[in-house]
Amino acid sequence: MSDYQREQLDTLKTVRQGLLRIKAGGRQRLREQIQPYMAFRQTVDRFLQRHFSGICTRTCYDSKTSACCSKDGIITFFADTVVNALNSTATQLDHLETILRRKNAGHRCIYLGPDGCLWSVRPVVCAMFLCDRAMDTVFEKEPDLKSRWEALRRQERGFKWPDRPVLFDDLEKAFLNLGLRSSLMHLNFSPGLLNVKRKAGLLDPSGGPAVPTA
Ligand code: SF4
Repeated sequence: MSDYQREQLDTLKTVRQGLLRIKAGGRQRLREQIQPYMAFRQTVDRFLQRHFSGICTRTCYDSKTSACCSKDGIITFFADTVVNALNSTATQLDHLETILRRKNAGHRCIYLGPDGCLWSVRPVVCAMFLCDRAMDTVFEKEPDLKSRWEALRRQERGFKWPDRPVLFDDLEKAFLNLGLRSSLMHLNFSPGLLNVKRKAGLLDPSGGPAVPTA
């Protein structure tokens, strides 16, 4: 198992442990909390399906030259794992754990199965990925779509970029408050993102990672 797989597996186990601990009522509150994000993700999926599925199928899947999903490690946030777990069955999450324990034989994402991505809700980095070639082709023909894509990008930041209170931070804190911690809690432990929070006045001036309050 690679370091990447170990980190992913540890995070998934931490999330599952936390979700078990907060019981059904707490899980329901988290599901309500992520609703605006789920609506955003559906909007993104509709946009990509409508305007990019043709070129992506032609350029990548038919020719088998896909750059998407071909890296053996993609950046994920702790919140990605929480959102996916809240939208998955125990069997699906068990399957992810099994996959993560295996050796990654190919030069591609460990989560790529025969029928596509094994996540129920893909990590946000994947959901918002468009290669330059696809963007150039589509936006050249329909420049208005570029503005709409940029608006979706801004919306994405509103969930994960901590220059304001954001869902991804809240989800990390919900688990920190349970005494759980993960190296993928970037919004609470990455020096760069802590600096963003500090500049936005969202951190105690004494600085440092967020400390659980309960
Ligand atoms: S997580 Fe899923 S969508 Fe993202 S790179 Fe891996 S297989 Fe592709």
